[in-house]
Amino acid sequence: MNNKEREQRVRDFEERLRTARADAERRGETFYPGASGVALAAYPPKERWDDWVEMDSRAWPQRKEKRYMLVPTTCFNCESACGLLAYVDKDTLTVRKFEGNPEHPGSRGRNCAKGPATINQVTDPDRVLFPLKRAGERGEGKWVRTTWDEALDDIAARIRKAIVENRHNAVMYHVGRPGEDGYTERVLAAWGVDGHNSHTNICSSSGRVGYAFWMGLDRPSADHANADVIFLISAHLESGHYFNPHAQRIVEGKHAGAKVIVLDVRLSNTATHADHWLAPRPGSEAAILLAIANEMIQTGAYNRDFVRRWWNWEEYLDQETPGGEPRFETFEARLRELYANYTFEYAAAESGVDEGVLREVAAIVAGAGTRLSSHVWRSAAAGNLGGWQVSRCLFLLNALTGAVATEGGVFPNAWNKFVPKPIYSPPHPKTWNDLTWPVEYPLAMHEMSILLPHLLEEGRGALDVYFSRVYNPVWTNPNGFAWIEALSDPAKVGLHAALTPTWNESAYFADYVLPMGLASERHDVHSYETHDAQWIGFRQTVLRAARERSGQTIGDSREANPGEVWEENEFWIELSWRVDPDGALGIRQYFESKDEPGAKLGVDEYYRYMFEHSVPGLPERAKAENLEPLAYMRRYGAFEVRKKIGALHEEPVPEDELVDVAVDRFGRAYARSERPPTPNVVPLPSPLPDAEGRRPVGVRIDGRIVRGFPTPSGKLEFWSRTLADWGWPEYALPGYVKSHVHPDNMEPGQMVLVPTFRLPTQIHTRGGNAKWLDELANTNPVWIHPSDAARLGDLRTGDLVRITTETGHFVVKAWVTEGIRPGVVACSHHMGRWRLDDNGQKQIMAKVALDRADGAWAMRRTAGVKPYASADPDTKRIWWSDVGVHQNLTFPVHPDPVSGMHCWHQAVTVERAHPGDAYGDVHADTHKAHLVFRKWLALARPATQHSPDGNRRPYWMLRPLKPPVATYKLPGGAEPVKNP
Ligand code: SF4
Repeated sequence: MNNKEREQRVRDFEERLRTARADAERRGETFYPGASGVALAAYPPKERWDDWVEMDSRAWPQRKEKRYMLVPTTCFNCESACGLLAYVDKDTLTVRKFEGNPEHPGSRGRNCAKGPATINQVTDPDRVLFPLKRAGERGEGKWVRTTWDEALDDIAARIRKAIVENRHNAVMYHVGRPGEDGYTERVLAAWGVDGHNSHTNICSSSGRVGYAFWMGLDRPSADHANADVIFLISAHLESGHYFNPHAQRIVEGKHAGAKVIVLDVRLSNTATHADHWLAPRPGSEAAILLAIANEMIQTGAYNRDFVRRWWNWEEYLDQETPGGEPRFETFEARLRELYANYTFEYAAAESGVDEGVLREVAAIVAGAGTRLSSHVWRSAAAGNLGGWQVSRCLFLLNALTGAVATEGGVFPNAWNKFVPKPIYSPPHPKTWNDLTWPVEYPLAMHEMSILLPHLLEEGRGALDVYFSRVYNPVWTNPNGFAWIEALSDPAKVGLHAALTPTWNESAYFADYVLPMGLASERHDVHSYETHDAQWIGFRQTVLRAARERSGQTIGDSREANPGEVWEENEFWIELSWRVDPDGALGIRQYFESKDEPGAKLGVDEYYRYMFEHSVPGLPERAKAENLEPLAYMRRYGAFEVRKKIGALHEEPVPEDELVDVAVDRFGRAYARSERPPTPNVVPLPSPLPDAEGRRPVGVRIDGRIVRGFPTPSGKLEFWSRTLADWGWPEYALPGYVKSHVHPDNMEPGQMVLVPTFRLPTQIHTRGGNAKWLDELANTNPVWIHPSDAARLGDLRTGDLVRITTETGHFVVKAWVTEGIRPGVVACSHHMGRWRLDDNGQKQIMAKVALDRADGAWAMRRTAGVKPYASADPDTKRIWWSDVGVHQNLTFPVHPDPVSGMHCWHQAVTVERAHPGDAYGDVHADTHKAHLVFRKWLALARPATQHSPDGNRRPYWMLRPLKPPVATYKLPGGAEPVKNP
């Protein structure tokens, strides 16, 4: 239902209400308008959030009213951070349910199934409620309850010792879903450790870096609602990044007449909504995109003026013909030559998609003009060697049509995102962590997380304190058995603290399991590029907010949360005080109150300061409602800072920034202004000054100095000097890299396994006991086309198949379906959760036994899921027993040599299960996996051999923690290299 239809429904309802009231009055009866007195299509009006009335469903058939206080927070079940309203029962002060927050600009009151399922997570009878300490060996399953004080003192002492002994790199914080903007980076910066590790290279490194080479920023912000053509290389409608906020806008665009093009090897729920569904051979997507681009180039059907003004074609021509006259016509002629070989015929041969279909799609794209929205994030970018060229080639279509920062086009993400400055911004560390940023991957985006067990194995470092947070590397990463080996070895990992609200496979190998809050039990601020606007969302401890609204005073969030569940904000403040109790290390100052010098900073002050000082328009808006900014955010949960941001790259640089301007021959403008660039307008990615010390402020286009893009050149970089200078000149232009699963690289009889797709109703490993979601999705059969099933011995749905990778095999059930391309099999991640003992999420984790002979590991299922008694009567009603198979254990690492992305697709053999095979069996060899790591490592072009400036990494490229430029110098003073 769109907004107009919704409003009409409300009006119809009100009309019916008036008629019904009048009828009742005529009959002399008491009229009951329903508990809330509003249409089901309407959201609770915000004026009534203090006292909202609904019928108590449990009192049925009695008509009993229940009174609620509605308290906003944000969902933590994917990165979108949609708004939620917690319905807090006013009698019991407990949360009864979660629904959408209509005041949230990104989600506009809507959620996917995972949002309301937050209540399942909150009431999960198996969740971790108290800090636990290991009582046996790691992985032995013996735990005792401990106190926060003991855990904090133990961890803090180790961190302090590492810092004092100058072993900063021994401290690592490894995060999966951050769910916040910058808080923890701030903590690590205050400690002076370059210890941030992420999940990016199992998720989006390639998607990101392809965009970053073009526009300086690493994410697209697509304006789907206003597009004429929506081009998706993913299952974006059901499980994409910013899933629900984007899905609702894609549907709006479609309703308004937009054509939807989807490239997906599966007939996903997204493909079913497409006007054109193309199922290309995995890894051939860039060839299709280049054929579309070539057609536009050869026929002149591109936005010539946009290309002339905004592409760095002069820089490209200069390196082709140094000193030559940079004429645009010369470039156009060169462009035609460059892409002439990418014909539809070639793309059809590579992709297996009919040539006529490609022509049809190309015509639609070319006709989109500046209203072409497009998106790739994981999918083909995450599956393939060279997958980063998929995002580079997709954006090429936007760059050709000029659909960049236009209505219906694609924006650089930071233009549609707002990150408020926190109360303190400690300088970033002066150390470089080679375990996360190894010299072999100077262009990686971001940390080389998947390599950690290999680098520890090779003695490149050791960890004294390792935090895992919203992350489960044993289960999520490839080669999980190597993670078990590393996490079980105290010489490699001295102490592992798992910060997690639920049990997970990695927590079994921790020393402490520390319970952290769910979406309604913690504070975070975040902002995401859901559409052409800037907003902030505020996650909060809802029972604390409810109790404070009722006049109570709450100390820290543990007082309001179940058990001793805490939140990271307060945890990090407390830990930092214990690392530096007297302030001598210079750390404590960043965690002290400004209001009360010498006292500990609290979350109220932290966010009050931020909302009062760093969010334009919020204090005024709050004042209009007689509220302080913090109270406004606690009441509404979100604030829209600006909308319709538009073409920031075209904004003139203000005169007062243009002091002592110098413009280089390609138009890059530098100035000496002391005034910092306007925050949150066009973030320049740590630009380096020119030879005279001026900083880049913009770019000269047609005689005017305008902001431009945050790239080194200030323009859209069709030709990437960064790639050319850092050892990859052959890939400096958008191009096609043959994947590691290209037919040329496969052995006879092998098939491609696509393991990257998500189930729309699961939450990685945090779904756990979300019972509504588990009932919807609880297995991951392998999709197999009927022609392949017949070839493999008349396989039927439900038959067991053995899938063999480079390092092992797993046994899974077949699902024979025409919804998959022949020659390809696909198996969803999310599924195949396991536990070693009775600790764990019993609704979705099978019990397994592990067996190890040196590097050869075997896992066998000993019990599936079954009904059990708990505080929740529904656990006795569990009807499913199958929870899928853990395939990632059998994958070795495949680090892309440019982006660092783990290239997920696997060349596999598929066959009927062998005698003795059992469902859920997993075998893998970590020694073999290490050899595969070495093979892929050999593809890398290390900074030591290719750095053009003696640095480890181009300084302009994004990095969550950004050490000062001097720290970028390669050890041993390696000389700059002039690459051919
Ligand atoms: S898309 Fe779904 S899971 Fe993601 S934040 Fe929104 S409601 Fe939560």
